[in-house]
Amino acid sequence: MVQDAAAHGPVNPWVALAYLVAGVFFILALRGLSSPSTSRTGNRFGMAGMLIAVATTLVTHEVANIVEIGIAIFLGGIIGFSIARRIAMTAMPELVAAFHSLVGLAAVLVAAAAFLNPGAFGILEESGNISSVSRIEMMLGAAIGAITFSGSVIAFAKLSGRMSGSPILLPARHIINLGTLAAILAGTALYAMQPTAGAGEGWLFWAIVAAAFVIGFLLIIPIGGADMPVVVSMLNSYSGWAAAAMGFTLGNTAMIITGALVGSSGAILSYIMCRAMNRSFISVIAGGFGADASAGGGEAREQRPYKTGSAADAAFMLEQAEKVIIIPGYGMAVAQAQHALREMADMLEEKGIEVKFAIHPVAGRMPGHMNVLLAEANVSYDKVFELEDINSEFAQADVAFIIGANDVVNPAAKTDKSSPIYGMPVFDVDKAKQVFFIKRSMGGVGYAGVDNDVFYMDQTMMLLSDAKKMVEEIVKAMD
Ligand code: NDP
Repeated sequence: MVQDAAAHGPVNPWVALAYLVAGVFFILALRGLSSPSTSRTGNRFGMAGMLIAVATTLVTHEVANIVEIGIAIFLGGIIGFSIARRIAMTAMPELVAAFHSLVGLAAVLVAAAAFLNPGAFGILEESGNISSVSRIEMMLGAAIGAITFSGSVIAFAKLSGRMSGSPILLPARHIINLGTLAAILAGTALYAMQPTAGAGEGWLFWAIVAAAFVIGFLLIIPIGGADMPVVVSMLNSYSGWAAAAMGFTLGNTAMIITGALVGSSGAILSYIMCRAMNRSFISVIAGGFGADASAGGGEAREQRPYKTGSAADAAFMLEQAEKVIIIPGYGMAVAQAQHALREMADMLEEKGIEVKFAIHPVAGRMPGHMNVLLAEANVSYDKVFELEDINSEFAQADVAFIIGANDVVNPAAKTDKSSPIYGMPVFDVDKAKQVFFIKRSMGGVGYAGVDNDVFYMDQTMMLLSDAKKMVEEIVKAMD
């Protein structure tokens, strides 16, 4: 769509300035998104930057058919808008994975178009061949895009429950993965070194793309259990690098800047999440390198005694407490219990009881999920604490109030080497004098699919109910 000279010709200084301004807006967007209190402003900066980048591209480039582009933007916008409006907050990670797959596919299609019609992309040299640099850019865009696409499709299937979240560990998978990666790199080098449009280079291009689709699939199937959050942010990073490579092929500076920002911020987020979960970054990006084949979820549940209680019991004991720590998880999001929970916390505080919220880095189904929900319910930020800042306080807490969380409080992460969550830091809820555990039934498990010893501890009272209903009943009982 973007034509010859426009794609790789000399850059108009006004265009460069407009792209620079868009780039600054994107950086301000990332800055804003780093805290819940400034995230809305961050989002607005991002939207403004994107508007400037798209408008500049349309106005200053010779576009093949503005009507076609307008129709595509309109249809895409309507589809995106209606999906985003309808999607439940709990389904956000799978939506993000689905959108990443589209970015990956777009990168493959741009590279394929450039390969089939290099003249239209301004990447033909005077000799009539594609230069080595353009070949590398094209191949990188296609390969990273293909990995992003197939990896994201698997992540989408796992997160949406269309396929089991348990790791699928193929025999000799590391040898297969390393061999496929080596073949992609060798193929790219061979392709870059063939500046003549020699016979046979067509199959080489398509073979590399096919191998990249396969490796994306192979890298994500062995990752399961509690490691999926890292996969989502890692695919986010890949989609950024794929977009940056697309930017080189299209000769679009704004796309290179945006892609690099998304790629590097996604990589930093993956690294932070790996550290928070005590996982090796290299192990996760290498497709679960070092994962134990015995570490699968969903083992048989043994029958063990546990205590249940009612909302009235919980209300009575909460009112006797001096310090309560609330641990929200995915179930709070499913039940949309955050508003009732804030009301309960306010009532306890009015009675002079200290209330804190403890947020695990992977609680819920996307990074920051619990922070967003608590912010929506107007829970003050100074009452919300990260795992490392609050974990030592459970020993002084009278009540650990677990609402819809499970994996993030599971002590198996500390003690059971065969558990899929082994090594992940978890809240030390067992140190609290009393533990309340809200979930719907004893049959349900957390995302990693493993039993939880906290259910059966002496000081635990299971409050079996929908989270919102239970909290509303506790509030009523405290009135
Ligand atoms: P879990 O998935 O471990 O547990 C959720 C709990 O909520 C279950 O015990 C479930 O039990 C209960 N629940 C579900 N619906 C309701 C409801 N309506 N009312 C009351 N309880 C309900 O959640 P956590 O937040 O503790 O852990 C997050 C997990 O998700 C981790 O394993 C993490 O790795 C993974 N993950 C996180 C992502 C992220 O970015 N944060 C992304 C992808 C995966 P029951 O069914 O019996 O009610």
